[in-house]
Amino acid sequence: MFLSGKRALVTGSTSGIGLAIARALRAEGAELVLSGFGEAGAIAALCEELSARHVAADLGNRAGVEALMAGAGEVDVLVNNAGMQHVAPVEDFPVDKWDTIIALNLTAAFDASRLAIPHMKRRGWGRIINTASAHSLTASPFKSAYVSAKHGLAGLTKTLALELATFGVTANCISPGYVWTPLVENQIPDTMKARGLSREQVIEDVLLAGQPTKRFVQPEDIGELAVFLCRDAAANITGANISMDGGWTAA
Ligand code: NAD
Repeated sequence: MFLSGKRALVTGSTSGIGLAIARALRAEGAELVLSGFGEAGAIAALCEELSARHVAADLGNRAGVEALMAGAGEVDVLVNNAGMQHVAPVEDFPVDKWDTIIALNLTAAFDASRLAIPHMKRRGWGRIINTASAHSLTASPFKSAYVSAKHGLAGLTKTLALELATFGVTANCISPGYVWTPLVENQIPDTMKARGLSREQVIEDVLLAGQPTKRFVQPEDIGELAVFLCRDAAANITGANISMDGGWTAA
């Protein structure tokens, strides 16, 4: 329980990867603050399961991130994980979706980090973990906003690492390949439309085509990696972009 006495805020922790990271951090004793959308009863059940608090905020705008950080209080482990996707050719890409994806997947991580850092510096210990993506390292067609935001997040992470290097605070990206979560399931209809494929073809020929293991990454494995990045043994891992993508970006 090496995270006892430390507070962890995981954005987008009502679902998918964020929830798995939250569960893993809680298992090591962290006091959890959850964030993300969902049905009130389901969120209350998660809070009970994880002895956690939930702070409701829309992180697609700056005021929402500021409200989240004020509600969370001082944070020792910040996991910037909330994200969304939209699949469309650039010339048809809805401009409001572009703005929201950049705001949620990139700008929210900047704002949450700038507000969390003063406490981490005072304490001489902190961990910033950003859920990036294989799309922080490589592109796919029809995902212009997401690929741009995730490349930006990787750059932000490196900058944070350099600025915080002497303060006991590390900043790293975890970059998953395809993980079976609602975010992936929800993009199947638009990908079917954009590419003229069936559901099965999208799963086999698009999602898993570039993932050499031909298997989805498991959210729980990402949780374990996040826990490792919090350990003292990981104190010299900073500014890294750690892939967990079944070999996708090795190709
Ligand atoms: P998910 O849809 O299961 O979870 C997304 C979470 O973000 C939810 O808790 C949701 O409520 C929250 N969220 C969405 N919009 C929000 C907003 N405006 N304000 C506050 N919270 C909001 O998705 P996931 O697959 O678990 O994705 C989590 C992260 O992992 C994202 O950053 C995503 O880009 C990244 N990622 C996912 C995959 C994958 O294959 N699933 C691969 C690489 C990276």
